[in-house]
Amino acid sequence: MTKRLATLPTLWDEKSRFRRALLRVLLWVVMVVSLALGLLNLRAHGLDSIVVIEAIIVAYSGLFLWRLPKTPYLHWWSTSLVIFISVTVLHSLVTKAMLNDGFYWLLLVPTTSLLLLGLLWGGVITGVVGVAGVAVLVWAQPPGGGNATVAVGINAGLTYVFIWALSHAYEARRHQMVARLQTVAAQDPLTGLYNRLYLEDVFAQLCQSQPQHAFTLVLLDIDHFKQINDNHGHEVGDQVLRLLSQMLRSATREQDWVFRVGGEEFCLLLPGCNTQSAMDVAQKLRRAAADLTLMAEGQPVSFTVSIGLAQWLKDGEDFDSLYRQADLRLYQAKEQGRNTVVADQA
Ligand code: GH3
Ligand code: MG
Ligand code: MG
Repeated sequence: MTKRLATLPTLWDEKSRFRRALLRVLLWVVMVVSLALGLLNLRAHGLDSIVVIEAIIVAYSGLFLWRLPKTPYLHWWSTSLVIFISVTVLHSLVTKAMLNDGFYWLLLVPTTSLLLLGLLWGGVITGVVGVAGVAVLVWAQPPGGGNATVAVGINAGLTYVFIWALSHAYEARRHQMVARLQTVAAQDPLTGLYNRLYLEDVFAQLCQSQPQHAFTLVLLDIDHFKQINDNHGHEVGDQVLRLLSQMLRSATREQDWVFRVGGEEFCLLLPGCNTQSAMDVAQKLRRAAADLTLMAEGQPVSFTVSIGLAQWLKDGEDFDSLYRQADLRLYQAKEQGRNTVVADQA
């Protein structure tokens, strides 16, 4: 289950929401600072290359800010922004623009790259820019002689590595915590199945990714579960829920989704299944549930399940109507004596 969670759309949503929020602040700062630096450099040096680059950055940031809320190419916009900033800083080091102290700006690169591009890609850019920046400092610093130049390079390099290490540790920890939160938010603690909260996300994802293909929503409810609790105790009831959950997971395919949506109620999403093939699956699950037996203090505990099905598009287009239809059929299965599957309106 954890394997699948890592590929889920919500994780991307979170990532891109976090990055978009961060980018909004960053782009405003980059735009204002580049404008100020551009004007200062214009006064100090006239219209030279750094002023042109800064003007381009102001325009680029403005364009990016405009596209920010909707663009699906966030990663490429961010990568080009970070490369743009890095090249500008390196260029200003070489030309000694930015009022001769351009290396301070180098220190922005680790944090910005790692937060915007992640540990791997951000780390690559940080490494390349760091080595290039220190080389430029050592090689192109003004008077003072060899030692002073090397000292500046060493200081800049050490500060840079220090900030890189801190940013890396922060981003790695944040990434872990988000992954953990995602798992907790999507998982039912008793059974380890996905929970109700997550069902609608996956449903929306299936609607988007499988517009041409049928998929079926299956609602399954344990029959007379209250009696199990009453006769054997709540703990045995919990064991029944875990046993059934294991069966549901092992009896379904890798691409099927299994959720616990209420006390003793489960929902499955079966991609690529129309009503007929979902009916076969449901009957298989119904028989498998009836075959399960749990031993509680020497006494066998067994149970049955009732199932209602609804096929996407055929029985309902949105989540609420499809779920309602499946629930109605589940109710009919109960009415018909339980241990039954209902797929079409009686
Ligand atoms: P039906 O065949 O009509 O579905 O009857 P039922 O007894 O299964 O349904 P009912 O809704 O009357 O009772 C469901 C019971 O499930 C009541 C509740 O105490 C129990 N339940 C809900 N959540 C849990 C849980 O997490 N653990 C245990 N052991 N019992 C639970
Ligand atoms: Mg029940
Ligand atoms: Mg119920």
